[in-house]
Amino acid sequence: MEATSAETQMKISDSEWEVMRVLWTLGYADAQEITGILGASMNWKLATVKTLLGRLVKKNAITTETVGKKFRYFPAVSEEETIQSATENLFSHVCAKKMGATIADLIQDAELTAADIALIQQTLTDKVATPYIACNCIPGQCECKEHQN
Ligand SMILES: [Zn+2]
Repeated sequence: MEATSAETQMKISDSEWEVMRVLWTLGYADAQEITGILGASMNWKLATVKTLLGRLVKKNAITTETVGKKFRYFPAVSEEETIQSATENLFSHVCAKKMGATIADLIQDAELTAADIALIQQTLTDKVATPYIACNCIPGQCECKEHQN
């Protein structure tokens, strides 16, 4: 298992994530621009966006630069690593033994193109099977036989 750095363990809220998506798309933006894009559909005022930006700065997810009298915000983490971090966080709540079934469920529920399916099939072809997976739960958190004496 890979060591997780403080950065990969960063958690951002759903609202913060929406702001990040704008910054990833544009490369950078100020609070007014973000409000212009998200304000109507998210029902956010400029103050809401400024609050979210402040939280993201504290979490080191974005950096800020002053341009004239305005603050300009830049993403400090990539979309890819943020998605990976959220997935790792989600899977950290699942018994290691249930990982395969959980991934199979995800695939079953997802809308996938032929190209997506080909990518997943290739990934599975290249994947090396682990002979045995140990339960990583606290006894009482799951029904693995390992915990039943
Ligand atoms: Zn378990």
